[in-house]
Amino acid sequence: MLDSDFFRRWLTVAAAMVEREAGRLTELDSAIGDADHGSNLQRGFRSVTAELEKESPAGPGAVLVLAGRRLISTVGGASGPLYGTLLRRTGKALGDATEVTPGEFTEALRAGVAAVAQLGGAKAGDKTMLDALEPAAEALGTSFSAAAEAAEKGALATVPLQARKGRASYLGERSIGHQDPGATSSALLMAALAEAAEATP
Ligand code: ADP
Ligand code: MG
Repeated sequence: MLDSDFFRRWLTVAAAMVEREAGRLTELDSAIGDADHGSNLQRGFRSVTAELEKESPAGPGAVLVLAGRRLISTVGGASGPLYGTLLRRTGKALGDATEVTPGEFTEALRAGVAAVAQLGGAKAGDKTMLDALEPAAEALGTSFSAAAEAAEKGALATVPLQARKGRASYLGERSIGHQDPGATSSALLMAALAEAAEATP
């Protein structure tokens, strides 16, 4: 079973990974965007961890809803509302149970990913975070590590794609040959999830 501590751990590990990889995320965004993806997420995840230190949300759903709200109000850029929606919608789908099964979490994450697709109007193959999130949500039905691997593979597969959504789409064909920053941060988020699961007693 997955409890609040598990989800707190996920977000804390994700925040640490964002700190470590912020430079690389911003560098990727400087090639096909406006060079702020790393700093955007750094600001957002710092706010998430600060909030989690102050508050003790009652269950898994509440932890994710709180984190999603912080991301929406602090990240700015396209990725803030999108990641915020991902966590909020996933949290809402978990409801107010104090523990959830991996199967329930998988269902909830799929609802969260669907909400991201709806908000941003993107689909897999458009060279966005969805290229990592969709295969990850699918593979989460197998295991946490399968989800992390699927996300990483999806992020790498954005390199030859032409961006059809977001800032990178303004570049047209010049977006080809670069890895999408948002797909890369989504792979980090899934790697953090697998790490949190490994650390779970
Ligand atoms: P901004 O583009 O506003 O500077 P960020 O740099 O923080 O925002 O995030 C850029 C990332 O957001 C992109 O690499 C892409 O993965 C993701 N993104 C942008 N637009 C969309 C969209 N419509 N749907 C899904 N993801 C998107
Ligand atoms: Mg940017």
